[in-house]
Amino acid sequence: MLADPGALDRPARGRLLAGAPIAADLRAEVRAAVEAFRGRHGYTPALAALVLGRSEPFARYLQQILRACASVGLEGREVHVEGRVSAARVRAELCRLNADPHVAGIIVQQPLPRGLSPRVVTETLDPAKDVDGLTPLNTGLVTLGYGGFAPATAEATLEILRRSGVSLEGLHAVIVGRSHVVGRPVAQLLLREHCTVTICHRRTRELVSHTRQADVLVVAAGAPGLVTGEMLKPGAVVVDVGTSVIDGRIVGDVESESAARVAAAITPVPGGVGPVTNAVLMQHVIRAAEVQARASRRAATP
Ligand code: NAD
Repeated sequence: MLADPGALDRPARGRLLAGAPIAADLRAEVRAAVEAFRGRHGYTPALAALVLGRSEPFARYLQQILRACASVGLEGREVHVEGRVSAARVRAELCRLNADPHVAGIIVQQPLPRGLSPRVVTETLDPAKDVDGLTPLNTGLVTLGYGGFAPATAEATLEILRRSGVSLEGLHAVIVGRSHVVGRPVAQLLLREHCTVTICHRRTRELVSHTRQADVLVVAAGAPGLVTGEMLKPGAVVVDVGTSVIDGRIVGDVESESAARVAAAITPVPGGVGPVTNAVLMQHVIRAAEVQARASRRAATP
């Protein structure tokens, strides 16, 4: 007998991979680690956010990050560069934060103000404090599988898959998007989990021919509604990283209605990757704090 006699009359719907419970678990782990750190080292590590002029979206993101810091017991510190944001001023602030022993992690407003080269940040930010994986050293370490910090969003994608019980080994993962903050690092992390990985981008021909082969589909294009249910392999697991604002509403890259009828599981937007990303960032800060505290203890030992 069917447990739910109405089930056959209804279209099947994919399981919703909500970010909130995963983020809550991660935050609980970080909170315990921060408390233990404070007990061992006698101070609260800080995450510093370098704010360059005025950006509404970054200001909103920053409020979320400061709340996340407070919820795990980390110090969240805003550092503002007001007025004309020159390369020299950004370098000077980053050097000051690099040298501050209580600052364990640094994030920098993205996108950067027009005219400021990303190299100003990637060449100055101490890789040990680069908790959102922007610097070439961290990209290299992640690629080689030697640790390092992957961008928090990329790692959040993997946390969602792992903590939702998806067994990744041998699966075909298709990623739509090849940016350095999402698409490429997600590909590296999925390769590390022994997936077969295909990366698609704006110039990919016949996107649908790739997406239909995906056991795991990660969409990070910033193109609302790009992926529909008919572009999916039945039973696929879909992670929608996209966030765009349309008529004041946050929407993803996947048309959730049609996709949920074909996929086995799908992340919602909002409420999927976003909250997990913030929690992963907290995890990176306490990891960075531990490494830095060990290094300064070693340096102080005669
Ligand atoms: P990006 O613009 O740097 O890169 C987008 C990528 O998608 C490019 O490689 C491009 O070639 C590809 N692409 C765009 N349109 C495409 C199309 N029609 N077909 C195939 N490929 C296409 O963007 P990004 O920084 O990687 O961000 C991607 C999305 O993820 C955005 O919506 C962004 O807001 C979101 N995002 C979310 C989080 C989060 O925490 N939830 C974090 C970072 C980014």
